[in-house]
Amino acid sequence: MKVDLTGKVAVVTGGGGILCSVMAKSLAASGAKVAILDLKEEAAAKVADEIVAAGGRAVGVAANVLDIESLKKAEAAVKAAFGDCDILVNGAGGNNPKGTTSKEYLFPEDLKNQVEGLKTFFDLDPAGVGFVFNLNFLGTLLPTQVFCRAMAEKGCGSIVNVSSMNAFTPLTKIPAYSGAKAAVSNFTQWLAVHFSKVGIRVNAIAPGFFLTEQNRTLLTNPDGSLTARGNTILAHTPMGRFGTPEDLTGALLFLVDDSASSFINGVVLPVDGAFSAFSGV
Ligand code: NAD
Repeated sequence: MKVDLTGKVAVVTGGGGILCSVMAKSLAASGAKVAILDLKEEAAAKVADEIVAAGGRAVGVAANVLDIESLKKAEAAVKAAFGDCDILVNGAGGNNPKGTTSKEYLFPEDLKNQVEGLKTFFDLDPAGVGFVFNLNFLGTLLPTQVFCRAMAEKGCGSIVNVSSMNAFTPLTKIPAYSGAKAAVSNFTQWLAVHFSKVGIRVNAIAPGFFLTEQNRTLLTNPDGSLTARGNTILAHTPMGRFGTPEDLTGALLFLVDDSASSFINGVVLPVDGAFSAFSGV
């Protein structure tokens, strides 16, 4: 998909990761100057180097989306390198095993026997649940506060948040991540309304199932074959495959392009091979 983002400054949080590095590259290939923000400075620098090597303009910046001072430092670095942010992609996020139950369902026997390693709903660690909520929700809200004031002052800009399938219907075992991404989708709508008078559009992409480092052990066995969960997911994905990071770039470019999606504001766009449309029957 061809859109012209020449002269725009894009900031991608979590840009050192698997999905957002590809999103960052697609923004750069469309002419944007891209700041790759990531907790892992080396990962951010590597993606920026790859963009520059391909003829684009990019800078890698260390930033923690949960730390306002770190974000302010990053904002100053981006401003010095490229100017004010026009496009913000809130991509940093993810799950944590501490907010995850070991089994899909709670059975009566799980309450009676203390099975080594079994983590039921009752064993969930509040700190783990809080970590996942903060990373996904606050980690979307704080960069928006830091990077979008200048957008509001300028009267134009675009924000794309990264939600998930579990925001529509929670996935088994991951209550914290499901709730946190539901909050991201809800916040996307709230912010679209709140910013509607200052020319900023706010939308989200909800990726379906993409095989990445975060979920590789959940979806595949060491020999590469699918786990039971991986099989269940594919059985519920009418297109019959996992997504590739490149599947997301058309949706991203469409949502950030002020002419293509000029009146689209507050939507959560599934990119999921029809997973969210399928009842299973
Ligand atoms: P990833 O782990 O490859 O990328 C996430 C990046 O965020 C990493 O580079 C990590 O260093 C960075 N990060 C983590 N905490 C941070 C913090 N506090 N501050 C700054 N950066 C931080 O994961 P991914 O699979 O590419 O996921 C990208 C986004 O897509 C996430 O929001 C994830 O929840 C979402 N998502 C992924 C899938 C999937 O199937 N992989 C599906 C739906 C949604």
